[in-house]
Formats: sequence, structure tokens, C-alpha cells
Amino acid sequence: MDAKEYDAIVIGGGPGGYTAAIRLAQLGKRALCIEKESFGGVCLNWGCIPSKALIHAAGTFDRIREAGAMGISAGEPAIDFAATQRWKAGIVERLTTNVGTLIRGNGGETVYGTARIVDPHTVDLTAADGTTQRYTARDAFVLATGAGLATLPGFAADGERVLTARDAVDLPAVPASLLVIGGGVIGLELGMMYQRLGTRLTVLEATDALLPGVDADLVRVVERRLRKRGAEVLTGARALRWEPAGAGAAVTVEHGGAMRVIEAEKVLVAVGFRPNTAGLGLEEVGVRLDERGHVAVDERMETSVPGIYAVGDMTGGPYLAHKAFREAEVAAEVIAGRFARADWLALPAAIFTDPEIATVGIGEAEARRRGIEPTVGRFPFAASGRAMSLNDTDGFIKIVADGDRVLGVQIVGPEASELIAEAAFAVEMMASPGDVALTIHTHPTLGEGMMEAFKYALGEAVHVMNRRPAPSAATPRPELAAA
Ligand code: NAD
Repeated sequence: MDAKEYDAIVIGGGPGGYTAAIRLAQLGKRALCIEKESFGGVCLNWGCIPSKALIHAAGTFDRIREAGAMGISAGEPAIDFAATQRWKAGIVERLTTNVGTLIRGNGGETVYGTARIVDPHTVDLTAADGTTQRYTARDAFVLATGAGLATLPGFAADGERVLTARDAVDLPAVPASLLVIGGGVIGLELGMMYQRLGTRLTVLEATDALLPGVDADLVRVVERRLRKRGAEVLTGARALRWEPAGAGAAVTVEHGGAMRVIEAEKVLVAVGFRPNTAGLGLEEVGVRLDERGHVAVDERMETSVPGIYAVGDMTGGPYLAHKAFREAEVAAEVIAGRFARADWLALPAAIFTDPEIATVGIGEAEARRRGIEPTVGRFPFAASGRAMSLNDTDGFIKIVADGDRVLGVQIVGPEASELIAEAAFAVEMMASPGDVALTIHTHPTLGEGMMEAFKYALGEAVHVMNRRPAPSAATPRPELAAA
């Protein structure tokens, strides 16, 4: 068959793939982006964006209920969830359509179909109607097929009683009760979203704590709110099997050495992600996978096969769209002959629970594990006038520094996902605590809390009591003494 020729071919149109295609086209490459389903990947179609839309709707609903404290009485709010879903679908439609427009607007091309690599320069595409077309890439392939949901034996999703995260963002109505298997990021984001809309929530987590990998002092604040709203949280729990019960499910759970049956209208299985590497022809061309099944790449995002690059979730966690964005930029620039390397000094992450959690760099425990005696600064939102005026004072900002270098920031509280941007900049710029403490922050804002946490680390906090005495005015700050 006649092959169509490009400089670079990107396989997968999610955040990693579409960014690679756009940058390649911007850098003068004839670029093609192949997508088998819908441009935008997990992020735009059923992950980040639709879930955040629903979480915002649930937060709005919840705030109306809590507005009595501000003297507002709007009665008991009602939700037409089908209308909420239509609103969310409109956002998804706008964004996914825009991805193709952006690729083509930058000079790249898009095509739908399932790709299989034949050799390091050739790919065969099978379209939905079964027709095939061969394409060749003169310079490079960029693999960006992402990751999919891990499954749990005995809990195959039927979309009715047992749901995947993908089903859970598309429910036509708010369930009366929900049992979430997996107290990780998806389980808590979607679980708390439905909880705020009135769903009775149970969370089963296999390990001994919710959100494994997140520092316990941050998780505690979220767990307190989860329980306060009436959720049952079972850690060290295993779901063994389920059977239909009325319109819902009865799940047999092993917890604390005893068996229990928990009934719920819906069961959400959220036990992690697995890379999408099957069926691409990777074995045939010799692309090496690591021990966890991710595509192994170097810091230039090149695989074990020269000229084949890989970006995004398929290269391993953390499974974050913004990690994929950066990796895609690196791959595109390397392919175009520029110098670029992936480095993860400041890779922020945000969890859209209520309240939100956001982190960048390393935390206190990790610093100690690395043999560092960290300086820690803390500012509780309870001391923030802005947080009080938002009627949202749970949580804190915590900074970790090694002498005059900021190592990391952890936030749990209102707008944590937005506040972390400044912290990421501080870590990336290898700022000192004094750099942030001396930066004037607008009053009254939540961002002032960041400045105060850094001032606290220096013993100079103004709006919260310092734990250790402030250095005398005659003692210059370490970073100023060095100047
Ligand atoms: P996850 O790894 O965050 O959580 C899965 C949880 O399930 C873990 O706590 C794990 O211990 C638990 N688990 C595993 N097997 C279990 C079992 N048999 N019974 C009970 N618990 C079990 O994964 P996720 O929540 O499915 O999310 C998938 C990926 O997507 C994650 O890497 C996550 O970080 C990412 N994601 C990120 C965001 C965000 O950045 N805001 C949002 C959603 C998802």
C-alpha cells in the first residue's frame, strides 16, 4: 500500500500526544497526530476536566446549604443532575473539539484510527470502518497512548451497579449511597463530590491510610471532613465479592479480621492506573518496558529504540497531565534538534478533595529520610482573614527548607490547587525562604498564607505566633549575610 509521509507521527491525542504534535508543528516538522477515540484523552473526556466540573457543581450546592452562617437562606437546594451533566458535557465538547483545532492551526494534521507500529519508521492505521492506511515517519514516532483503569478481580464493572471512574462521571442521577473501593485520588475526589450532593459514602482502602503517599497531616484534614459529613472509612479493608441486592449491590468485605456485608446503590472501583502498551507492536520493534510495564525512556524521552519517543502516563507515574505536557515538549524539542531534558525538581500535584491538597517538592518526612534536618514553616488557614471571609478555615500551608533553599511546600485547604503555583516557582527557582517571605503579597488573600509560612520558618511571622524566638534585628538573614 502507498504510505503517507510525515517527519514525525504522534500516536495518541491526549495531553501528551496533542502537546507533542503542536510543538512539533511549531518547530517546523510535518506532524501527524493519530487518535483512536476522542482527542483530549482521559484528561478532557472523562478525567480531570469533567470531574472538576462536577466537583465545582457539588461544592456550589454544598455552599448554598452552608450559607446560613452568612445570613443567607435559600431553602434546601435541589439539583437536576441531568442538567449538570449536560453543562459538563458542553465543556468537554468545547475542549475536545479545540484540541484538533489547535493541532491543525499550528500546521499539524490529525487522523482517527488505531495504530500499530510495523518498524521504527512505519505505522499501520486501521480506521473505524476497517480500512487500513500506512504512514511513515522520517524522523521520529512519539508514543502517547496513556494509561487506563486497573481492574479488581470479582468486580468487573457493569456500568449499573459496579462502576469505573469513567462510568462515575457520567451517572444520570445522584445515587443514594456509594461504596468506593480504593481510597486514592479518584475514590476520594469522586466519592466526596457525590457525598456533597447528598450521597451516603463508604470508602474501603486496602492499605492502612487514605491517599497513600500523601503526608498524614494533610490527609487528616480531608478525612476529618469526610467523616464529619457521615462517611464510613474502612482502612486495611478488602472487598471480596459482590452480589445484586435490590437495585444496588451487597459487597462482602474483610475488615479487622471480620467479615461484613455492606450494601450500596453503586460501587465505584478506583484501584489505580495501568499503562496502555498492548497492541501497539512495541514488542515487535523492541521497545523496552520497565518492571511495572511502563515504556522505559531516558531524560530526552527516547525509548530503547532510537527515533521512538514516549511521553505521558505510559512512561509511568505520577499520572498527571502536566507531567505529560512537559514530557511532550521535551520530546518535540529533542526531535527538532534542540537541547531539552525532563527534570522533576518541581512537579506539583493537586488533589481536588474537599478541602484540596496540593504539594510540590519534598515533604518533612522525606527530607528527614534524606538525612536533612529541615526548617519547617506553617501557617494555618484559621489565622487567615481571607479564609475566614470565605467561611473556609480548615487546613494549613507547610513549607520545608534546607537552610536557605526551599525544598517543598504542602497545602491542605481552600484553593490549594491554585496556591501551589507560587510554591512550584519557588522550588524551581531554588528560592530561599527569605525570597518568598520578602515578596509582598496582596492583602487580603489566601496567598498571604504562603508568605507567612515562609516568615514563620524564619521566626518572623506576624499574623501567627512564632514557635521559636525571632532572631534579633541585628542578626541578618542567612541569605542576606551571604550577599
Ligand atoms: P490511586 O493509586 O491514587 O489510588 C488507588 C487506591 O486504591 C490506593 O489507595 C490503593 O491502596 C487502593 N487499592 C488498591 N487495590 C485495592 C483493593 N483491592 N481494595 C481496596 N483498595 C485498594 O489510583 P486512582 O485513585 O485509581 O487514580 C488513578 C491515577 O490517576 C492515580 O495515579 C492518580 O494520581 C491519578 N489521578 C490524579 C488526579 C489528580 O491529579 N487530581 C485525579 C484523579 C486521578
